[in-house]
Amino acid sequence: MQKLKQFIKSFSLWELLKGLKLTGRFFFSRKVTIQYPEEKTPMSPRFRGIHAQRRYPNGEERCIACKLCEAVCPALAITIEAEPREDGSRRTTLYDIDLFKCVYCGLCEEVCPVDAIVLTGAHDYHMENRGENILTKEKLLAIGDKYEAEIAKARAEDAPYR
Ligand code: SF4
Ligand code: SF4
Repeated sequence: MQKLKQFIKSFSLWELLKGLKLTGRFFFSRKVTIQYPEEKTPMSPRFRGIHAQRRYPNGEERCIACKLCEAVCPALAITIEAEPREDGSRRTTLYDIDLFKCVYCGLCEEVCPVDAIVLTGAHDYHMENRGENILTKEKLLAIGDKYEAEIAKARAEDAPYR
């Protein structure tokens, strides 16, 4: 009897029909996959992504090397060296953030008196080589330049840039 059942199932392609039934069910149901990066899923307004250093509209960097962010960072991820410029203004000569140490708490952003260091909403970044976990001042300023329009807009609306 068992063999007969097996034969009928094989002859009627029963397993194939079962598979097609499942395919058909999902073919007409609502799709949950998205076409990233063209489409993006909603993100929490509390999300904190990669850091950026901002400039003023005239191109001058905002950071005044007060080192508050370095002092407040609970992960000791920020390293700053500074010295006065020829015009007497104080600026950083080195500003590094170690992404392997950073816990994305946002304290550096909160403590900054000139809104220089910010955490953007950018989350799609990666590293391929040793040492790329260190965000240097040049990299931070480049990220800031890339996202400045969005950051400034969010600041004007008193909303987090996420
Ligand atoms: S987000 Fe937090 S852990 Fe990361 S650099 Fe800023 S203060 Fe340090
Ligand atoms: S980023 Fe802000 S808090 Fe940090 S050293 Fe520069 S001005 Fe000070």
